[in-house]
Amino acid sequence: SEAAAAVGAPPRALQHHGPGKLVGKTALITGAGSGIGRHAALLFAQEGASVVAADRNLAAAARTVDAMLELNGQGIAVGGDVSVAGDVEAMVDKAERTFGGLHVVFNNAGIMDPGDDNVINTTDEVIDRTLAVNVKGVIYGCRYGIPAIIRAGGGSVINTASFVAFMGAATPQIAYTASKGAVLALTRELAVIHAREGVRVNALCPGPLRTELLMKFLDTEEKKQRRLVHIPMGRFGEAREMAKVALFLASSDSSYVTGASLLADGGITSAYVTPE
Ligand code: NAD
Repeated sequence: SEAAAAVGAPPRALQHHGPGKLVGKTALITGAGSGIGRHAALLFAQEGASVVAADRNLAAAARTVDAMLELNGQGIAVGGDVSVAGDVEAMVDKAERTFGGLHVVFNNAGIMDPGDDNVINTTDEVIDRTLAVNVKGVIYGCRYGIPAIIRAGGGSVINTASFVAFMGAATPQIAYTASKGAVLALTRELAVIHAREGVRVNALCPGPLRTELLMKFLDTEEKKQRRLVHIPMGRFGEAREMAKVALFLASSDSSYVTGASLLADGGITSAYVTPE
């Protein structure tokens, strides 16, 4: 197939630069059916990675893979719930068996429960569900993903946290906020533990994004403005902007970056007063 690629025109998606940043790499992306995960899957595939697009919504993951194939990318869709250890083990296994090794794990699947509120009103059920997906899901991705990355000779783990792990919000979602703080703490420790095994572990910390996850909560102009006033750049972020940061962390461009909590938040966490 290398010979065939040499005689044919380069894939359209790769024409903007030389060889892709993830050629020869396999990446497992959770929550790949929507938002950040979907955009990361498309971008990683364009950069030459073989992508395992995992989502509890298999149909959504399959749509991502269809879009990936249209860009001449390579990938497969896998269904599964990241809060179930066996499902995550199966995702990693599928990646290794299909593509011969795993180099990048993007633990990105996460939820914001509609019942998540302040500490007085939030039920145990909401807390347990949120921590199961957002914290245990990341732990399972690392439990099964890191040994696979070591077997492949090294690579990168990216855990999606959030800017809310850095600052308090008067519009509370206490279980979600606690879960993202946990992701930052465990990411740092994993980075230290596995640093000499060729595994880098970093957290991607997005600001508020114009994705399904957030926009279904911010369903009025007033709710949007309540947030936008605090964002120096004056707009919500886009999932594809997070995919670019994830690509940096996934590729050797970030070869000396580990244990980092990389904020991509439009300046929110740096602001006291914002421009009028
Ligand atoms: P999204 O809702 O658009 O996509 C999330 C995807 O994850 C969906 O396809 C969903 O089916 C999948 N998913 C949810 N629970 C799952 C589970 N248990 N197992 C497998 N798949 C599951 O969300 P998004 O905005 O792309 O968010 C992705 C990550 O970014 C999340 O961790 C989220 O907390 C984080 N984040 C989002 C924002 C934001 O404003 N959207 C801000 C900061 C951080």
